[in-house]
Amino acid sequence: MIFLSQSKTNVTASVPSQNAAVLLFLLWPTLAIFLGLALWYKTLHGIEDDQRALANAGMQNAATLARGYAQFVTRTLEQMDQVTMHVKFDWEASTAPPRLEQMVEHGLFTATQFSRIALVNRDGLVISTSSVASGPPSISESEYFGFHKNNNSTAMHISVLPAALGEMPTIVFSRRLDTGDDNFDGVVAIAVEADHLLAFDDPLSFGQHGLIGIAALDGMLRLTRIGRDGPVHGNLPAVNGETGTRLFPAAAFADHSARYVGWQALGSYPFLVLAGISDDDLMQPHRESWRAYRHFAWAGTLLLVLFAAVAMLLSARLRYRAREQAELRATYRNATEGGSDGFYLLQPVRNGRRTIVDFLILDCNQRAAAFYGVEKDALVGKKFSDQYSSAYFPEVLVTFVEAMRIGQYEDHFEVPRASPVRMRWVIRKLVRTGDHLALTLQDISAAKQHQVELDRVASLDELTGLPHRGWLMLTLQAALKNQRGLAVLVVGLDSFKRINEAFGLLTGNELLRMAAQRLGAMLRPSDHVVRLGGDEFALILAGLTVDDDGDILANRVKEALSQPFSLLATTLTLTASTGLAIAPRDGADAETLLKNADIAMHAAKSAGKNRHRRYDPQLAAVIQRRFETELALRQAIAQDEFMLVFQPRVDTWSGEMRSMEALVRWYRPGFSLVSPLDFIPLAEETGLILPLGKLIMEKAFRQIAQWQSKQLPVLPVSVNVSARQFHEGHVEQLLAGLFARYQLAPNLIEIELTESATMGESSDTIAELTSIRALGVKMFIDDFGTGYSSLSQLQRLKMDALKVDRNFTAELCRTTEGEVFFRAIVSMAHALGMSVVAEGVETLEELRVLQQLGCDEAQGYLVARPLPAEQIAELLIKRYLFTPGLAMAPPR
Ligand code: C2E
Ligand code: CA
Ligand code: CA
Repeated sequence: MIFLSQSKTNVTASVPSQNAAVLLFLLWPTLAIFLGLALWYKTLHGIEDDQRALANAGMQNAATLARGYAQFVTRTLEQMDQVTMHVKFDWEASTAPPRLEQMVEHGLFTATQFSRIALVNRDGLVISTSSVASGPPSISESEYFGFHKNNNSTAMHISVLPAALGEMPTIVFSRRLDTGDDNFDGVVAIAVEADHLLAFDDPLSFGQHGLIGIAALDGMLRLTRIGRDGPVHGNLPAVNGETGTRLFPAAAFADHSARYVGWQALGSYPFLVLAGISDDDLMQPHRESWRAYRHFAWAGTLLLVLFAAVAMLLSARLRYRAREQAELRATYRNATEGGSDGFYLLQPVRNGRRTIVDFLILDCNQRAAAFYGVEKDALVGKKFSDQYSSAYFPEVLVTFVEAMRIGQYEDHFEVPRASPVRMRWVIRKLVRTGDHLALTLQDISAAKQHQVELDRVASLDELTGLPHRGWLMLTLQAALKNQRGLAVLVVGLDSFKRINEAFGLLTGNELLRMAAQRLGAMLRPSDHVVRLGGDEFALILAGLTVDDDGDILANRVKEALSQPFSLLATTLTLTASTGLAIAPRDGADAETLLKNADIAMHAAKSAGKNRHRRYDPQLAAVIQRRFETELALRQAIAQDEFMLVFQPRVDTWSGEMRSMEALVRWYRPGFSLVSPLDFIPLAEETGLILPLGKLIMEKAFRQIAQWQSKQLPVLPVSVNVSARQFHEGHVEQLLAGLFARYQLAPNLIEIELTESATMGESSDTIAELTSIRALGVKMFIDDFGTGYSSLSQLQRLKMDALKVDRNFTAELCRTTEGEVFFRAIVSMAHALGMSVVAEGVETLEELRVLQQLGCDEAQGYLVARPLPAEQIAELLIKRYLFTPGLAMAPPR
């Protein structure tokens, strides 16, 4: 049985925006298809419209042409009518037969090359002709001669002589000649080669393959001609009715080209004429542009496909990136949140069949290595199977592979004996990130142990198991009576509050308990440790009479606490301030002795912590002085004895000024300029930081407004907000009021908070940060690296940037670790969307390294010292603050 208790197993819930992302992904192809369809619809419809319009025009043209052609033919026939009439008249009016040669000479006949006119006597003999070429001497056998001889109609007769092979048929227009008493006297006849009637041409409308045709209604004549000079055929498309138009298919014509045909019957003659316009002729000139339209549509389609593909690719990549980032953040959060956890980043090892057979430990934290009882270096790069016995490993592997499959897995379990993990109870969390697995182990054995301990020592100080102050007073009282030589050493742990804020009470308590244990372990059996309360202890030292001995002991206390404490959350060391009082010199009764040891301890704290002080009556004077300073500070705030100086912050590469930090100075009457280090901590302790902070903030606003009124190109000013001011000073309200009063753009004010100010992550802290952020004010973490906050916590609090403490900048060129540390901060901060400012940049060497590390901004004496407002005005104009040679182009 591996899992004695399995509390929960979660499958990673799908991200809510997943659907939206899929929709977005599909949007592009859909859009492309839609646009493509629209494009093709427009193109094809346009072409179709064109074609329809052309067909209409073709139809109309054919009709017009047919009409024109009909007129042409009618005119020709009328001419024949007139000429024959004329000749008949001449014949019948005169005694001598008309001389046709003379008529020709007088231009009575046009188009003589096509027509031949002849006079024939009543016996069928040709008696006169207009043609030089000799025709047959007698036509008595011809159809029309017979017709006129037997028919006394005077109308013009039209007949067709069938063609000899390879020649045109001839059309004969003839009229009967009468004697004075209306007896048959002969015939006048005009022979016209049939194609003369086809000599109608309108090149503009006909085109290359235009067709004209003529048919005699009795079927004796059927002629067509295609093209201007094309051969003449006998086949005509079949048409019905007097007049009309129609599109004939390609099969209807010898040249297999479809045509719009118009036809028209001649009213007064038994003929029907046709005119046809070739579909090809009509469409040809437009084919090129239609092809161009289609090419355009194809090109458009191709572009759309390309666009859709690229857009899909990009959105897929964007999605992938976003997911990767989210996972990266989740991983880091896992890694750094709750420092008590062991964190491992595992990479699956697969065999040839892609089955996971092992895991490689890519990374882990110190704590994680400690769980296996080794150093981090010994664990990173190792296979997971190396850590486990062959009997137990398969069971671990099954769980891990399952976690890879479902995405997330969590359980509580009692560690079996076979496991190399040195804990009894752990919470085990597995999260898949990309193709990796993040494993977090949380040791809960100690918590269980702790529960047991608490129950056992209920009568003593619950936390440390030490006696209380009450017990001390009694014991001390008794001891002072009975013993010669007794001393009290008060031990105050330094900055304990910050540890509580950073790691929470649980860790703080654990540390207190361990510290108490160490103090107890140092003492002789006759000595005692007592917890005075909070972070203060008292050692009662029997038989100690000499200050030197007290100093030695204080030193040992310091030693003991400076050894690393391995806590659930992290590894820490402590410093302490100590104060010694020896009876009876420094107090004959318990109360006084303890009070004076306490004064000495506080004097040590005031002197800068991590110090030892023997009690000295003059120490009271120190406390007095502190009191005076407090009073002066109170007055200074009332009378405003402060001014701001400003220190520029520049772009690491170009030296362009980006912002500046407001630093306060106290012009204390009778003193030289007082450094903030000498009064800000006091202001914090006494609460004076609240009015002072307000004053400083207002000065910053006023100063920016003043620069603005001088038309200077102002830059943001970052204002330091101390922890107490942040928690109690209603900073958001203050800022909102000042923005309203001075009408400044929100980006002109920035806030610098120390890590401890933001620690604890109470709902109040988060609410305050959120509302400040909502004003549009950027937030910086000051002195990053000196506190205990993790980058992921800061990212969760939505900090904009880190100001890395100047100790780390100084370390940059001194040790390799310095550079490694800085590089890690820069890359992690960037991964979490924060930028990095290096504080205290003093040398060119440091600047160069910072440029290499990709640190965003730099601040320090190398660039500029904190300067009064007038000098800043010059820098605002100058803007680029590096002296020549400092600036470098970023690598690309
Ligand atoms: P800080 O916020 O870390 O400010 C930077 C300090 O480093 C300033 O000291 C500045 O003069 C100094 N500094 C700047 N560049 C360099 C450098 O290249 N090398 C070295 N060695 N030091 C450099 P300052 O002005 O004495 O301020 C000390 C601290 O007092 C500040 O540290 C800040 O914590 C606090 N402080 C200053 N002004 C204010 C304020 O208006 N409000 C609050 N709450 N705290 C303030
Ligand atoms: Ca600062
Ligand atoms: Ca700082």
